Amino acid sequence: MRNKERACEECGIYSEKYALPVTTSQEELLELINTLNNKSSISGILVQLPVPEHIDEETIINAIDPKKDVDAFHPVNVGKIMVGNYDFVPCTPAGVMELIKESGIEVKGKECVVVGRSNIVGKPQAMLLLHQNGTVTVCHSKTKNLAEKTRQADILVAAVGIPNFIKGDMIKDGAVVIDVGINRMENGKLCGDVEFDSAEKVAGAITPVPGGVGPMTIAMLMKNTVKAAIVNKTHKEE
Ligand code: NAP
Repeated sequence: MRNKERACEECGIYSEKYALPVTTSQEELLELINTLNNKSSISGILVQLPVPEHIDEETIINAIDPKKDVDAFHPVNVGKIMVGNYDFVPCTPAGVMELIKESGIEVKGKECVVVGRSNIVGKPQAMLLLHQNGTVTVCHSKTKNLAEKTRQADILVAAVGIPNFIKGDMIKDGAVVIDVGINRMENGKLCGDVEFDSAEKVAGAITPVPGGVGPMTIAMLMKNTVKAAIVNKTHKEE
């Protein structure tokens, strides 16, 4: 959240932060979301997940006005991503696509393997790669012969949440390896889902952790917020 606040300041985006106590009830949180939904000076709303156990995450996500949903987690925005006609894309998969584009890597016709199928990373990531004409395989904890699948990948996205899970021998020579994972080790250091040292020996391109996808996620949040300002302005004028 600190980094997101700082990014807003750097971009000149006005932001309000509500650091609510853990005892906040679901009704109180819904009331705040409703107030912000109706506040014309606010274009984008982000509820930092996870929420405490006594609050239902789905109810909270569904309460955010889809036009202000800069995380793109609301079912309306999820559906729009599915059909390929969207305003907002979840920030992490959007950041991955931006990295691929800026690096001059073509997705069209490539074998793309996404390891992880969460609603916030794996699934939207697969859709975005598909929209760019990649041939996409999505792997998860029940996938059999995972290494066989990952070794097929021209573009491999790891979003598993297990430190150093993807090893060099699971990667095809020259593949593009994008590590979404952010795992805190016992020594306090961050590490990704890809074992960087063995992977970089085979990969054609690879993202580090920290410093790879993480900063892109925040950049895409800023992009979504600017889009939201435009969408809400247009909506008001209609
Ligand atoms: P998540 O909700 O825990 O999902 C993890 C996915 O990995 C699940 O689909 C799970 O499969 C799959 N998985 C678990 N064990 C596996 C195994 N042994 N083999 C194959 N697949 C396995 O995590 P997430 O929210 O997507 O996040 C993934 C990672 O990205 C985490 O490290 C998180 O911290 C990081 N992250 C980073 C950013 C960023 O800004 N860079 C943003 C969001 C998340 P099942 O569905 O079968 O359980």
